[in-house]
Amino acid sequence: MISPRSRIPVAILGATGAVGQTFVRRLADHPWFEIAELAASERSAGKTYAEACQWLEGDMPESLADRRVVLCDPASVGSPIVFSALDSAVAGDMEPAFARAGAVVLSNAKNFRMEADVPLVIPEVNASHLALLERQRANRGWPGVIVTNANCAATVATMALAPLSETFGLKQVVVVTMQAISGAGYPGVPSLDILGNVVPYIGDEEPKIEREMNKMLGQVTNDAVVPASFAVSAHANRVPTEHGHLVCMSIALERRGSLDEIIQAMSAWRGAPDALTLPSAPSRALVVTTSPNRPQTRRDVGAGNGMTVTVGRIRPDPIFDVKLVALGHNTIRGAAGGSVLNAELMVARGLIGAT
Ligand code: NAP
Repeated sequence: MISPRSRIPVAILGATGAVGQTFVRRLADHPWFEIAELAASERSAGKTYAEACQWLEGDMPESLADRRVVLCDPASVGSPIVFSALDSAVAGDMEPAFARAGAVVLSNAKNFRMEADVPLVIPEVNASHLALLERQRANRGWPGVIVTNANCAATVATMALAPLSETFGLKQVVVVTMQAISGAGYPGVPSLDILGNVVPYIGDEEPKIEREMNKMLGQVTNDAVVPASFAVSAHANRVPTEHGHLVCMSIALERRGSLDEIIQAMSAWRGAPDALTLPSAPSRALVVTTSPNRPQTRRDVGAGNGMTVTVGRIRPDPIFDVKLVALGHNTIRGAAGGSVLNAELMVARGLIGAT
């Protein structure tokens, strides 16, 4: 594994939002990266970070409170690594501008995830998809690149499915999500819409879940991803929890396995070896609990410092083969933490930064 000799300067685009703040928390004391620039909209640019930002959790790192927020523009942001927590309404124009200017852009927005030459990566699951970068450079002629991470619910579901996909193959998946309020950003869902309520609709969420899992669990051949062919049906619900997306899945397998074999495959799964030693990697990316009433959002969302997906209630399904419940932290594993892990993987593979 390559590790940098000195910390690499990084920028955060959308630094004032829910995911942007999670980036700040994950990067404030990072061994390889140093926050050099905080960028947001015209509403925030020119203010100090403390003035621009409604800080949501714990204390804002003192060293950043007086830092001036800059515009999301390559003329104002020069870091070689750019973490983007931009809204999709603006990511489509802004992220390529940074790649054109030579930056490695780690994006959380939906805009580029399904492009044929853009990797959609969870390091433990499909690190091999970084091979698409060669094709991206050739296609687009950018000195920089865009690497994406998936929709937060799709990330949780995909991590739980990866061992089943690898060992048995997947035929059909029905996924029902219970997604936390922080998934809608800040200020997000109005309190009168969510307190004591469940909203059975999250705009554009079900199509994202249905298409992104197949790309991530697909195979790279000749610089292209051949998506996995299993059918996915998603129901997305917003529920009154703060952080953590809980997903219930019923799964039909290509090759039948006993319940013991299925549990064994999931418990033994570790993911790509070079992802395991990265600074943000949890000791276990997937943890299987045998407790009959877990995972629970409040109790398990912080597992592995927010980077572990907890799976439980693995049991036979009378219609499909097996059903289970998985839980992961949406703004950490499903967004900023996942993006930082992608950047670490790229550094470790010699794809970014001076050594
Ligand atoms: P958010 O809280 O609404 O934050 C949006 C950020 O984008 C703010 O920093 C805002 O800056 C900035 N922004 C908005 N318009 C801009 C413009 N015209 N120019 C520059 N900056 C602009 O949203 P979020 O939840 O953090 O989500 C950020 C991205 O991550 C979205 O694409 C979302 O889909 C994705 N994502 C979110 C989650 C999650 O769990 N929340 C999970 C996975 C992916 P100002 O403060 O200056 O307005």
